[in-house]
Amino acid sequence: MNAAGIKSFTPESIRTILQEVKDPEVPVLSIEELGVLCDVKLTDGQFEIIITPTYSGCPAMHAIMEDIKSVMEKHGIHNFQIKMIYSPAWTTDRMSETAREKLREYGIAPPSQSTTSHLEVLHSGKSKPVTCPYCGSTETKLTSAFGSTACKALHYCNHCRQPFEEFKCH
Ligand SMILES: [Zn+2]
Repeated sequence: MNAAGIKSFTPESIRTILQEVKDPEVPVLSIEELGVLCDVKLTDGQFEIIITPTYSGCPAMHAIMEDIKSVMEKHGIHNFQIKMIYSPAWTTDRMSETAREKLREYGIAPPSQSTTSHLEVLHSGKSKPVTCPYCGSTETKLTSAFGSTACKALHYCNHCRQPFEEFKCH
């Protein structure tokens, strides 16, 4: 507590604080970088944190909301509410180039196509090559539309001979 007793927060400083909230599945990415954090508004002394799910029914969203609460409370902010919006829907376009780069460094291919098209690829056998995050080769093969979580697809790189995951949504 400072002399005034109350710290003054602005929507901008709240956004900075929320950088501490990471995607539970990809801990190198903050919800801001991921594009999950849409907006922070201040209405009648109450902060409104607006988020959009990356994947409908994504179990990570619950963890993200819990993390937002604990980060806010850690900073002594209690006058806030979290609002989840579904429109406009999250698309991979919301992910910044920096975020994509961090994903690659983490060993996950950035999103390139939807679940529907992944399933089509598996059924048709026609492959849209995804670049391997390890060696940069496009000699890769989709092995499963679902990786370790519903938000990821599994690929295999024929060049460096190792499996890798691709972050995908919608
Ligand atoms: Zn490779």
